[in-house]
Amino acid sequence: MARYKGPVCRLCRREGMKLFLKGAKCFSEKCAIEKRNFAPGQHGKDRKAKIVGYGLQLREKQKAKRIYFVQEQQFRNYFEFAARKPGVTGELLLQQLERRLDSIVYRMGFAVARRQARQFVRHGHVEVNGRKVNIPSFEVKPGDEIAIREKSRTLPIVQQAMEYTAHQAAPGWLEVNRETLKGKVINLPKREDINLPINEQLIVELYSK
Ligand code: SF4
Repeated sequence: MARYKGPVCRLCRREGMKLFLKGAKCFSEKCAIEKRNFAPGQHGKDRKAKIVGYGLQLREKQKAKRIYFVQEQQFRNYFEFAARKPGVTGELLLQQLERRLDSIVYRMGFAVARRQARQFVRHGHVEVNGRKVNIPSFEVKPGDEIAIREKSRTLPIVQQAMEYTAHQAAPGWLEVNRETLKGKVINLPKREDINLPINEQLIVELYSK
């Protein structure tokens, strides 16, 4: 599937906020939002019009897609799956995104950003219930045990990520052992567990037109 390979800081600038896509750099003065908080492109600085209605809904959807690094069709599939299930569609949509294996690896603090977690999964550094899984969108269930594979634990990139996230507490719906680089999904997150600046209702409105 085609994937965005351009500069990711541009995505934050387009949304006008930090999406924390690059780990340490996001907390430094090198962050593009700190230096140039205006839309990218030749006329980025001149765009002053207030976004309302459809534009607002579209931006919210783009923001969510960018945070989770998901392509349009996959994002739409998550929405349609959530819409078919009983419950609050927006919350179920976010829950589906959160239970992706790459997102869980990031939430467990085994990677500095979702993009890096995706790379770890793709490169075969992650196992689920003792078996290697290299599909970032793999749907994790409550009770599943996630681990960085034994032979990958000493890799410098994994060690650096662990150092960087040393003070990061795992959310309550996950159990993490930082010594063994293993974790378990206790239950699926509720909306209040997902601390992201996303107004999922706007996304539901957009797709329900
Ligand atoms: Fe976004 Fe991080 Fe780049 Fe800042 S450094 S613009 S938060 S990806």
